[in-house]
Amino acid sequence: AADDNRPDKWVKGVCRYCGTGCGVMVGVKNGKAVAIQGDPNNHNAGLLCLKGSMLIPVLNSRERVTQPMLRRRKGGELEPVSWDEALDLMARKFRASIDAYGPDSVAWYGSGQCLTEETYVANKIFKGGFGTNNVDGNPRLCMASAVGGYLTSFGKDEPMGTYADIDHATCFFIIGSNTSEAHPVLFRRIARRKQMEPGVKIIVADPRRTNTSRIADLHIAFRPGTDLALMHSMAWVIINEELDNPRFWQRYVNFMGLDGKPSDFEGYKAFLEDFRPEKAAEICRIPVEQIYAAARAFAESPATMSLWCMGINQRVQGVAANNLIHNLHLLTGQICRPGATPFSLTGQPNACGGVRDGGALSHLLPAGRMVANPKHRAEMEKLWGLPEGRIAPKPGYHTVALFEALGKGDVKCMLICETNPAQTLPNLNKFHKAMSNPESFIVCIEAFPDAVTLQYADLVLAPAFWCERDGVYGCGERRYALTEKAVEPPAQCRPTVNTLVEFAKRAGVDPKLVNFRNAEDVWNEWRMVSKGTTYDFWGMTRDRLRKESGLIWPCPGEDHPGTSLRYVRGQDPNVPADHPDRFFFYGKPDGKAVIWMRPYKGAAEEPDAEYPLYLTSMRVIDHWHTATMTGKVPELQKANPAAYVEINAEDAAAAGIRQDDTVVVETRRASMELPARVSDVCRPGLIAVPFFDPKKLVNKFFLDATDPASREPEYKICAARIRKA
Ligand code: SF4
Repeated sequence: AADDNRPDKWVKGVCRYCGTGCGVMVGVKNGKAVAIQGDPNNHNAGLLCLKGSMLIPVLNSRERVTQPMLRRRKGGELEPVSWDEALDLMARKFRASIDAYGPDSVAWYGSGQCLTEETYVANKIFKGGFGTNNVDGNPRLCMASAVGGYLTSFGKDEPMGTYADIDHATCFFIIGSNTSEAHPVLFRRIARRKQMEPGVKIIVADPRRTNTSRIADLHIAFRPGTDLALMHSMAWVIINEELDNPRFWQRYVNFMGLDGKPSDFEGYKAFLEDFRPEKAAEICRIPVEQIYAAARAFAESPATMSLWCMGINQRVQGVAANNLIHNLHLLTGQICRPGATPFSLTGQPNACGGVRDGGALSHLLPAGRMVANPKHRAEMEKLWGLPEGRIAPKPGYHTVALFEALGKGDVKCMLICETNPAQTLPNLNKFHKAMSNPESFIVCIEAFPDAVTLQYADLVLAPAFWCERDGVYGCGERRYALTEKAVEPPAQCRPTVNTLVEFAKRAGVDPKLVNFRNAEDVWNEWRMVSKGTTYDFWGMTRDRLRKESGLIWPCPGEDHPGTSLRYVRGQDPNVPADHPDRFFFYGKPDGKAVIWMRPYKGAAEEPDAEYPLYLTSMRVIDHWHTATMTGKVPELQKANPAAYVEINAEDAAAAGIRQDDTVVVETRRASMELPARVSDVCRPGLIAVPFFDPKKLVNKFFLDATDPASREPEYKICAARIRKA
């Protein structure tokens, strides 16, 4: 009897949650998933966090969308409909809109949770088939600033290192990341590194005292929005204490001035005078010694690794903040060596693979190509067999503008896939109104019926979920890994690749453009499209991905092992073997990376007399994103059942608020009652809310101001006030 539940077989895959991309093995018995464990051969070495180890109840949940559902009139109920009627109607609506109003009246809004193959097909249908660049997705909300940072500093997106750098780093500079809750398996690896090598230093810069900061040697609880001043000041200390590495920067770095024109080291040094530590300490409201200590540890460590996430990216200065992290590495030569690297963390299992590498944002084309570049458009037109000029030269709407266009009626038909914008967009009251536009036609491909966005859907299509279909995820370290089909989906749930192909054909897209029988066909075309680019993963055949637990690109040949260190001669296949220099930043015209002088600017909305507190959003370890999945696991739901507001004890006492009191939180956009958690987690003057709870849509609080370069919204800061209810 003890063996009753022992799986008949184990099938390899990738965790469905965060961008760490842990490898999993799904245990199957009698055609049903019954167990999960970590893949010992993937980067996570068999480890999973609590969420990942509880994925099976999510897959087997009865609360699934199990058939297509149609709302026959706005305001009516969703009713079951046949696939034929659903696809016909959808194709008719999209085609009619394109014919009457042009291709830019339709849009795809995708996700870092779709498989690479799904995103690739959608991108091809919309940009190549329909002729619109209105292709964006939720990675715009979380990592667009990291993309902008890599592109402007190095000329190419994505990190140069891998997770294995954690095992070599002797100093960690963690800023704007609560790694312990958002990326638990990586945090465990960092903590273990410190345990094994007591000399390893950890600096955490975060206005909140998180579980991550509890293992830090130095916790810098800076005032929200002052990260640029902090990092410029660290650079000042590094230069003025001669801790920089001139041999590195003289050979491999250009300096760019405030005006975007070339400058030099002396110009940079003069610029940093405005960020002398005493002054920066005042701006950041931290002890000045912390700036000196952080700068010295960063520069003097044999190998420093920076890790950052939404705290840096979700800011109106997100790209600039990314640049400043890269500046510190370029100034000290802490780069392109094992353990010495800037390394952005990412939130979703396939934001890097499908959306970033696959070019499924409104300004991108696959494999690092850009919409605005005529050569890149011509390359993609040739690869996709399109007539010349088919791909529109103008980028489409970025996320915030896309939903604004939906509200105004400029975009009439939108296909939303595996994401929940009615909970995740900022300034939600505005965008709920936009999604209620009676002229719009919104289709959602969504596995879970309680996703808030379905309240605005005219048509819901039922997808095969996670290991009910096969496909590739690309995680935060440039690693592509295959999730193999382990079980059959519910009878009326279809793989999204098939849904997209069928929709495109019915909507009049040339069938040759979507001549895919399955996900493997799509993958093989995607490999071909990457071939010869600096993203090359031609060598990642489906067979190899079946046998191996992920491969890291560039990987140009079937016998190529993948690339752990980019930009390094002898490691990165894009650097010629006979290149005269050891490092070559081939994304830049002269092969040199850039140290940027970026002006210090605070948040888009600072506290004032009316709204005197900073409000920030945060994650909790038990839930992932909008909890449509983790909310199905009783243990996780019980651990963190509902949203709350975290308040510093000083602020709580001043407002007469006690633990568990109901508190009214107000911003200029919304007001909401939440239970209070009083502690020392937030610095005084800061309150924080988690965004997982569908009953408390806390993103209503935040404004939809975006970084002018990345167009990523500022979820991390706005002005707020509180009072006891
Ligand atoms: Fe899944 Fe992320 Fe946890 Fe790994 S760390 S098991 S990818 S949720």
